[in-house]
Amino acid sequence: MDDQVTDIQMKGAAPCARCFMLVARYAPQVVTPGATYHRECYEAWYFGRFGKRPRLVQNGDRHRYQTRDLAA
Ligand SMILES: [Zn+2]
Repeated sequence: MDDQVTDIQMKGAAPCARCFMLVARYAPQVVTPGATYHRECYEAWYFGRFGKRPRLVQNGDRHRYQTRDLAA
């Protein structure tokens, strides 16, 4: 499985850490140090866990976000 993930990432697309489907290169996405999520997946996960929407900040590209709420 680790080998598979590496192969996918080398092609420019990472699997979403929540739904495990590939995150298209230009799809809205949230990038954390450990994982990549679809933006919708991240927001749904975050809301379910913390009961509020995440504070996302754009990360250079307009389709890519980082969060200020979590260290991980
Ligand atoms: Zn997803």
